[in-house]
Amino acid sequence: MEDMTSAETNDSLSKVSAEVIACTKCRLCQTRRKAVPGEGLANARVVFIGEAPGEQEDNEGRPFVGSAGKLLNELLASIGLQRENVYITNIVKCRPPKNRPPRKDETATCKPYLDRQFTLIEPRIICLMGNSAIHSLMNTEKSVTDLHGTPLKVGRATYFPMYHPAAALYTFQLRKVMEDDFKKLRGLLDSLSD
Ligand code: URA
Ligand code: SF4
Repeated sequence: MEDMTSAETNDSLSKVSAEVIACTKCRLCQTRRKAVPGEGLANARVVFIGEAPGEQEDNEGRPFVGSAGKLLNELLASIGLQRENVYITNIVKCRPPKNRPPRKDETATCKPYLDRQFTLIEPRIICLMGNSAIHSLMNTEKSVTDLHGTPLKVGRATYFPMYHPAAALYTFQLRKVMEDDFKKLRGLLDSLSD
């Protein structure tokens, strides 16, 4: 199975989204309003992975539409990107009650959806926003404070750990740190040969 292309398996982003919207594989389905599969360009070179939908995302069924999303849009614009040019999703697709961090078993149960999205999009750069995304995809105990802004190559793709935009809403000084990391991201994108 591993060698099959998405065409051979007939998988598609819309199929993943439809399954997520109807998913009842973990307890988060009991309290969510709308599942949030993710959105953006089907062959995006860069994807952004957050933690989990918040209240506004849960209402709309779309990722990063609240205040953290507004900051993400601004940071994207600062390096000449728009949401339409990237793909945006989360580690878990349903909102945890009171925005608690997703639990290990929830993350593990939801992970196959993210894996399928990666297989279909084939991104070159995977931005991991915050500790939940970092710890769920990178084999490390280190925190975003140590890892942000340092790319790590994994096969053809590159993980790029960064702060979660919500962190910069709480701690104003982090906004400048995030702006600098986005400039590094611009450099990484410009250095891709294809
Ligand atoms: N925070 C996240 O981690 N994801 C969203 O979609 C919105 C806020
Ligand atoms: Fe399914 Fe993921 Fe939602 Fe859990 S968080 S119900 S695994 S889509």
